[in-house]
Amino acid sequence: MPRVALEAVQEAGVVGAGGAGFPTQAKLAGAADTVLINAAECEPLLHKDKEVLREYVDGVVEGTVAGMELVGARRGAIGIKEKYTAVIDLLGKKLPRSIEVAPLRDAYPAGDEFILVYDVLGRVIPPAGIPLHVGTVVMNVETALNIARATARPVTEKFLSVAGAVAQPVTLRVPVGVTLRQCVEAAGGPTVPDAHYLVGGVMMGWLEEDHDALVDKTTGGVVVLPADHVVVRRRRQDWGQIVRIGRSACDQCSFCTELCPRWLLGHPIEPHLAMRSLEFNLVGEANVIGTAFCCECNLCSLYSCPEDLDPKNVCTQNKRRLAREGRRWSDPPLNPRRPELHLENRKAPMARLMYKLGLAQFRNVGPLAENLLPAERVGIKLKQHIGAACEPAVEAGQPVRAGEVVGRPPVQNGKPALGAPVHASIDGVVAEITGGAVWIERP
Ligand code: SF4
Ligand code: SF4
Repeated sequence: MPRVALEAVQEAGVVGAGGAGFPTQAKLAGAADTVLINAAECEPLLHKDKEVLREYVDGVVEGTVAGMELVGARRGAIGIKEKYTAVIDLLGKKLPRSIEVAPLRDAYPAGDEFILVYDVLGRVIPPAGIPLHVGTVVMNVETALNIARATARPVTEKFLSVAGAVAQPVTLRVPVGVTLRQCVEAAGGPTVPDAHYLVGGVMMGWLEEDHDALVDKTTGGVVVLPADHVVVRRRRQDWGQIVRIGRSACDQCSFCTELCPRWLLGHPIEPHLAMRSLEFNLVGEANVIGTAFCCECNLCSLYSCPEDLDPKNVCTQNKRRLAREGRRWSDPPLNPRRPELHLENRKAPMARLMYKLGLAQFRNVGPLAENLLPAERVGIKLKQHIGAACEPAVEAGQPVRAGEVVGRPPVQNGKPALGAPVHASIDGVVAEITGGAVWIERP
């Protein structure tokens, strides 16, 4: 009998806490020989995985072992930056023999699961594949902790780093459903007048205009930047500008491709070819079909391109268009020129990336705050995961306790749709159900 049942993981509402939000019970229903814990955390200035490991190492190890039992894996590994020597020493004292530490260089990208699986296990996930195709389940540190806790309590709390232009960069433990603004205030507030919030990180996150947007089970961090910061300006460029400038300034140097981590793995994506879709002479399907395999890491746009063009957005625009039109490259081959041996040397060293992004001025720390952030009102989003949005399981005016189910995935074709239940994160009364969220207030 596994120490944690799959049903408990489902009922606790555990989903990928590293940003994707894939329902964990669905992932653990497969079979794999290895469970790989993703503690690589390569987004500049974010620290929550390292802090969770430091503070809750026993729970993370227990969740890893539980995950291994569920998928039948005999091997576990924790991929973590080699620079975090204190945490690695701590792990050395806690890990069973079946789980190893895999130290990683301080470079970007390291946390993309395709790259992590290759770096740690030497396995290449095929284009359009998932780690399970190479016998691997990848989980975030916090997801492993939530698995360990699943039998006793559902997911009602979230860890996230608040960094950048704030008075006290910090990693917070907050009730699910507080606002980003509350988190930034808990970090001492912005130190710039016109603060902009990048949610999920500078490289792969998004610019959130609504500072009262809600923290959900996937929110990993907020980086606060001033309006005139280069990263904010790049995010605010509209598509027309990107096309106009890209069309006239791309000289097809192909640096974007030479440093693209997916191309280096042998996947058929070549962003410099996608740039030709902006009406160069060589427009054609072959130039854009490979964009389906872009992981949107942003390295090409924010680091590789010497002209500061935006091949990442060109790739994502094409990728979405292909998806809308239902066109996919069936059985895409690995690039026969497969330059994967260069992968390690072509990653962006973190110090250089921080300098290039204008982030070197910020304090690169994020110690864990001890106490749970207090909250009088929370909004529990009904969709915090990949799959179907939950249906409310409560009504306005109903008293609820922290941990009580307030939404469940709908039943489709006689069984629950892919998803995860959501739970009240504070004691209180359901004030309203609106805007895709159940709002709970303390009386
Ligand atoms: S790196 Fe920039 S200039 Fe060079 S091919 Fe790519 S988009 Fe064009
Ligand atoms: S964002 Fe750019 S570098 Fe990253 S996978 Fe896509 S094309 Fe490659």
